[in-house]
Amino acid sequence: MSRGLILVGPPGVGKGTQAELLNERLGLVHLSSGEIFRAEIDSQSDLGRLAQRYIDEGRLVPNGITIEMMAKRLRTGEVRRSGFILDGFPRTVRQAEALDTDTDDLQLEITAVVSLVADEDVVVARLSERGRADDDPETIKRRIQVYHEETRPVLDYYEKQGLVRHIDSDQPIEDVHADIVRSLGHD
Ligand code: ADP
Repeated sequence: MSRGLILVGPPGVGKGTQAELLNERLGLVHLSSGEIFRAEIDSQSDLGRLAQRYIDEGRLVPNGITIEMMAKRLRTGEVRRSGFILDGFPRTVRQAEALDTDTDDLQLEITAVVSLVADEDVVVARLSERGRADDDPETIKRRIQVYHEETRPVLDYYEKQGLVRHIDSDQPIEDVHADIVRSLGHD
């Protein structure tokens, strides 16, 4: 069975960067919920218009819509053949439960959950430099609050399944990558 990884961590911790490096190294299909939403916004689809309201305010897009969107992306031959890496999803326990059902149905397996850890001042500084539309100080504050309330419990959910590896993300990009690979047993 192909491998399925999940990257979890606060906004700005480097999930997207590390997911890309893992994609290059392990050939896993990279599915970033934030990127998928931004592509929908760019193409001015109904989903994009709906998602934008939430994203601009630093709130989560509703679970039902997000779960549906990601399930569609998981249901492809390429994911089945190459495995997957999820970045930004699941972000709530409801999403994690739905993902468990979907991966069971699709005969996919979540093999590890990588928790990227950095101090709050480090992630806030990174986000402020990035300058994306949803990276203004008020929205950043809201996103970090949402992370603590909604997404931290997702880590507990996977801890119970023994899947979580904690990685120090306050290091150079290549070192974080090396630590992740080592934690997966891919030296
Ligand atoms: P970051 O991790 O830096 O916050 P993302 O690109 O992952 O950036 O997410 C940007 C925004 O997209 C989030 O603040 C949220 O509004 C929306 N979003 C992304 N993933 C999800 C998800 N799984 N559930 C709900 N909303 C999401």
